[in-house]
Amino acid sequence: MVLANPSGTAAAPIASRSTWSASDGAALYGLDRWGDPYFSVSPRGHVMVQPRGDRGGALDLVELVQELQGRDLSLPLLIRFDDILEDRLERLHTAFERAIAQYGYAGRYQGVFPVKCNQQRHVVEQLVETGKRWHFGLEAGSKAELLIALSLLEDPEALLICNGYKDCRYIETAILARRLGRKPVVVIEQADEVPRIIAASRDLGGAPLIGIRAKLSSRSTGRWGSSVGDRAKFGLSIPDVLATVEALRQADLLDDLRLLHFHIGSQINDIAVLKDALQEAGQIYGELTRLGAPMGYLDVGGGLGIDYDGSRTASAASTNYSLQNYANDVVATVRECCEPHGIAVPTLVSESGRAIASHFSVLVFDVLGAGALPGGVPAAGIDEPLILRNLRDTQAAIVANGDAAAAAPSVERLQEAWNDALKFKDDALAAFRLGYLSLPERARAEQLTWACCQAIASQLETMPAGTAIPEELKALAAALAGTYYANLSVFRSAPDTWAIDQLFPVLPIHRLDERPSRLGSFADLTCDSDGKLARFIDRGQAKPLLELHPLRDGEPYWIGLFLAGAYQEVMGNLHNLFGSTNAVHIRLADGGRYRVEHVVRGDTNADVLEAMEHDPAQLLERLRLASETAIARGSLAISDARRLMAHLKASLEQTTYLEG
Ligand SMILES: *Cc1c(COP(=O)(O)O)cnc(C)c1O
Repeated sequence: MVLANPSGTAAAPIASRSTWSASDGAALYGLDRWGDPYFSVSPRGHVMVQPRGDRGGALDLVELVQELQGRDLSLPLLIRFDDILEDRLERLHTAFERAIAQYGYAGRYQGVFPVKCNQQRHVVEQLVETGKRWHFGLEAGSKAELLIALSLLEDPEALLICNGYKDCRYIETAILARRLGRKPVVVIEQADEVPRIIAASRDLGGAPLIGIRAKLSSRSTGRWGSSVGDRAKFGLSIPDVLATVEALRQADLLDDLRLLHFHIGSQINDIAVLKDALQEAGQIYGELTRLGAPMGYLDVGGGLGIDYDGSRTASAASTNYSLQNYANDVVATVRECCEPHGIAVPTLVSESGRAIASHFSVLVFDVLGAGALPGGVPAAGIDEPLILRNLRDTQAAIVANGDAAAAAPSVERLQEAWNDALKFKDDALAAFRLGYLSLPERARAEQLTWACCQAIASQLETMPAGTAIPEELKALAAALAGTYYANLSVFRSAPDTWAIDQLFPVLPIHRLDERPSRLGSFADLTCDSDGKLARFIDRGQAKPLLELHPLRDGEPYWIGLFLAGAYQEVMGNLHNLFGSTNAVHIRLADGGRYRVEHVVRGDTNADVLEAMEHDPAQLLERLRLASETAIARGSLAISDARRLMAHLKASLEQTTYLEG
């Protein structure tokens, strides 16, 4: 069907059951699946946050947003629940501890957080602080990240894994960090780093701990599948691994070779892929010990996935394994590779970023308005042209088809009526072009066509399940869907939805006790047609439209984008000069209360202008001069000039988003 949608909304009943409760809302948006144990729905239909998971305590997200607005923190707002971050870290460690006990593993688990996943100071500081009891460390992939890791990590036991491209200064910094009392492991990712490490060690008379990243041949799947295999960007091929061992031996550095690393890409969807990689890495680890390296650590990289859609499948937005399954497989497989060969099992390291940082951030944005279709059947004019009368008759026939009094409503009759409606609509357009139809008559023709469309869509909803419905008619619901205008930039706040089609759970954070009677998608503030949210989670698949509520006059409509704590902030960009949003860190306090631990103000317009090398003061001065000229010319009153300058000054100090 080719039917342009004039960005409208119309009633399209979602389900035909008459009662609806908050638990229906929770089920519809999958909250009970992907949200567990942090997000649920209250009987009032508000999203509830349990920041400590199942250890008790809950906050009403809607009340929280209201109170934050009272503190002058306008939407869009990124809310970080520090307790969730802590809980995730705790769960990761508990899962490994359980697996180690279950398989009688003779070693330990000692993870690191890959800083690239979320470099925000408060986030890294909190992870380092909470992680102390497990000697949890950090992973850096660049010199700037190394600076963060070096300055924040004071625990001499915690690992500081140094990945990424390394020049001499990077390597020397790592060597000196060891003398500072830190535990840096320089992971050799490229063959040409070996001579640089050897030279730096000779110059400084000391070496860092050394790791080798192996390029595994095991196949990966999914979005990051190309991170492994012969053509991967990072890692040493097996011949290079052997040459490196020899070079280190010659340079008397083999005693510092302690770690084997691999990384098969982010968001591993299928656990079978991980098992293959673990077996291969386990064998390489054994070989390295036989070649005389002391070893001691096996670093399984990142990739521990998140079940964004709650479907528990190997699809892109999900994983077919749990955190515990993951830990069990790592522990059991490594044990199998080592024990039979009399090799001491290594300390297990993972660089789990997404799995630690996704849950703790929720982005809440408001809807500014929704495109509306001309609703209902327009009143007839005097002496209405035949084309319009035909459309009226068609619409009436469709409605009659659905009447209880009529014979069984028939899909064929609906299809016929729709064909008629489209034909009459084309006739109306042709008549308009030729001058036989006035503009108001054409408007009525369009409105009547939409009324036909609506009548068909609502009848399809009541058809018994399993009724065969032609694709063309199925598409009518989508044509009737609305565009909800969102006060956010997806390029800034959810860049992966645009860049790699990633799905995040998106849903209203209130009114969940009310049946959502519309279908819609979101358009953002940017002037870019890609600036939209139009793919939503759907149990292992994606759907183009989300069930939403009609807007109510004078009432806000708040939407939450969940599981957004990993990668989105730093990948976000300044497209159209929309800057960072306000962010707050929330801690659960006693008695069902909370504390706002940190407020991180979003970019102002002045900030984003300066980022592009503009000088806000100079911009203002130019406009002041222009208004003086206009005043002199007599085209601008002094009072108007003053008002204009006041608006400009105020805008510079405000966030880049709409403020109602
Ligand atoms: C990106 C990256 C990670 C983090 O991966 P997640 O999937 O977020 O856990 C870990 N290690 C390396 C080497 C990486 O490049």
